[in-house]
Amino acid sequence: MERDSPCTTCPVPAQAKAQCPYCGVGCGLELKPPAAGGGHGFWSVRGDRQHPSSLGQVCVKGATVAETLDCNRLSTPLWREQRDQPFEAISWERALTILVERIRAIQAERGAGAIAMYGSGQFLTEDYYVANKLIKGALGTNNFDANSRLCMSSAVSGYKLSLGSDGPPCCYDDLDLADTVVLIGTNTADCHPVLFQRLLKRKRRQKEALQLIVVDPRATATSDAADLHLAIRPGTDLVLLHGVGHLLLELGAVDPGRVAATADGFPELAALWQGWTPERVCALCGIEEEALRRLAAVWAASSGVLSLWSMGVNQSVEGTATVAGIINLHLASGQIGKPGAGPFSLTGQPNAMGGREAGGLAALLPGYRSIHEASHRATIERHWGFPPGAISERDGLSVWEQIEAMERGELGLWWVAATNPLVSLPWLDRVRQAVASCPLVVLNEAYAGTETEAVAHLVLPAAQWSEKEGVMTNSERRVTLSQAFRQPPGEARPDWSIFAEVGRRLGFVEQFSYGSPAEVYAEFAAITSGRICDHSGLSHGLLAEHGPQQWPFPSGTAAGHGQPRLHTQAIYPTANGKARLVAQQPLGLGEPPDANFPLVLTVGRYLGHWHTMTRTIHVERVRRSHPEPLLEIHPADAERCNLDEGALARVSSRRGAVSVKVQITDRIRPGTVFLPMHWGAAQEQACEANRLMHALGCPVSKQPELKAAAVRVERA
Ligand code: SF4
Repeated sequence: MERDSPCTTCPVPAQAKAQCPYCGVGCGLELKPPAAGGGHGFWSVRGDRQHPSSLGQVCVKGATVAETLDCNRLSTPLWREQRDQPFEAISWERALTILVERIRAIQAERGAGAIAMYGSGQFLTEDYYVANKLIKGALGTNNFDANSRLCMSSAVSGYKLSLGSDGPPCCYDDLDLADTVVLIGTNTADCHPVLFQRLLKRKRRQKEALQLIVVDPRATATSDAADLHLAIRPGTDLVLLHGVGHLLLELGAVDPGRVAATADGFPELAALWQGWTPERVCALCGIEEEALRRLAAVWAASSGVLSLWSMGVNQSVEGTATVAGIINLHLASGQIGKPGAGPFSLTGQPNAMGGREAGGLAALLPGYRSIHEASHRATIERHWGFPPGAISERDGLSVWEQIEAMERGELGLWWVAATNPLVSLPWLDRVRQAVASCPLVVLNEAYAGTETEAVAHLVLPAAQWSEKEGVMTNSERRVTLSQAFRQPPGEARPDWSIFAEVGRRLGFVEQFSYGSPAEVYAEFAAITSGRICDHSGLSHGLLAEHGPQQWPFPSGTAAGHGQPRLHTQAIYPTANGKARLVAQQPLGLGEPPDANFPLVLTVGRYLGHWHTMTRTIHVERVRRSHPEPLLEIHPADAERCNLDEGALARVSSRRGAVSVKVQITDRIRPGTVFLPMHWGAAQEQACEANRLMHALGCPVSKQPELKAAAVRVERA
């Protein structure tokens, strides 16, 4: 246990710089130690004015992050044989012995396919890289997935399908250069606040030069600032996009010859768009034809159209097709590969992008490689120092497939790290039942008392952001080195170091002999050479000296000369260099409303809270702003359901029911109700929104449709 001690890699500095560990905007933070002998005892946080992505701005979450760091921390490994026993504190030696013995036993009896890991966009890239190497390389199973599956895997598969590769092609400067910004399926004001403030400032400064168009069934702080708000019915995003395509053709905004030179599939797409007349589209979307025509006219007249989206698009049974539907419009109208234009997915988590780069989903390998390509597997095997064939060619299990495998009794070990799936997965009662049948659940976690800890046998205390050094990539492909500036509590250790220790104990001493996170990153960066997500010119040293950099950043690139935009030459990483237009008919919701469950429940976030609140619940200011979950319901629906403001409602779906206080508001469209997703079973105000959601997902991205389920609402 001498090796990789966080103490050797994180001497406490006088001040530090880091990327905010909350959302995918990836703001730069400057941190200073608490004043000696006084004050509140927290590190002080302010925006890093030198950080090119955020220019000194922060939101309430980033500004208060230091208040969460010491609250309710795990400081020693915990173990219990049975879930009905209390945990006992044990040594790392015993914890790792138990874990490694069980891994060996499962491998011998059932094969490595009976082991699965579920990681997190909270991981640093170094954590992701070593976890992936352990599971896919050392164990030889591709059962490594991450909670990014719930967040943006449809964006990954949509980019790959349409543009030949993952990789958001835009950058934040495009917010200042676009003359039209379409925000679809994103409440950017609450979920990516610093980016939204940047847009808002520009809107105030140049009111006429920027058109903001919002597509969302709810009126939100985002739509309040919009020139046009299309409150479409949930599940009709792709219908709307095809309707815009129809009108772009009608308006002459598409040049078939130019499109054919850079993309395949235009005749098929044009034929499909022809069928989506404004009358048909507006009837299905539940909007006025004038609004649709205005959106199309603004798009057609713009010199730079930027589309922003997040989970409202991605969390859908047709998530990949909807992402492709957005990209179709950009390819057809020439709004891509130039300043102020392009399809720009905003990632939810601080390092979901780094996870994609490190191969942190079941079908991926580092450097945007695939387990399905023999040459990719061979390259990574060589780089990792494993023999040919070590990486399996078989599909790994996505997170919902891991749950289903537990139901069938096929998993002997489920290893969860830096995430709280017992709040964030859909159909929670089914998840609880499945996990209860898994013989060994291991949890790497920083905070005590999470809902997932309640189902774990072995808990490994993790050093979190601030206590470990490493890099994260934000939504605009900018890589920031986050310095370690505090000591972890007790015996907590960085996730990458835990995974490396397990790798060595399994006999792979050479492959996991890292002395520092900088060494891990150097190994990762080298294998990205020549790939679209090229980090090979980056190192901890360069990032510490010159600050955050955007990839592609090949070896030899001078600091500050990463590439802000992709596809600027309209040559795409496909066999013939052309992008693909995707003609797919809309399917609608996975579970449409009916007579028994007549309303559509959609879920989302509150500005101050982060995910399952393991951190933000400790911030007094945030708790005061969002003291409890509220069911938003339209006055007409409230009357039909016999509900008054503040009454307790029972919301039920085919999978369960929750009770929650009612907020009557005309800011949500009739037929749709809204719940925040933050509150899990461990909270005083428990309201498990995801208990109600179904598990159907996009067949391509395997991302569950967490944004919509059919429900009934009654007075409780
Ligand atoms: Fe952190 Fe996101 Fe807020 Fe920036 S916008 S401070 S990254 S939570």
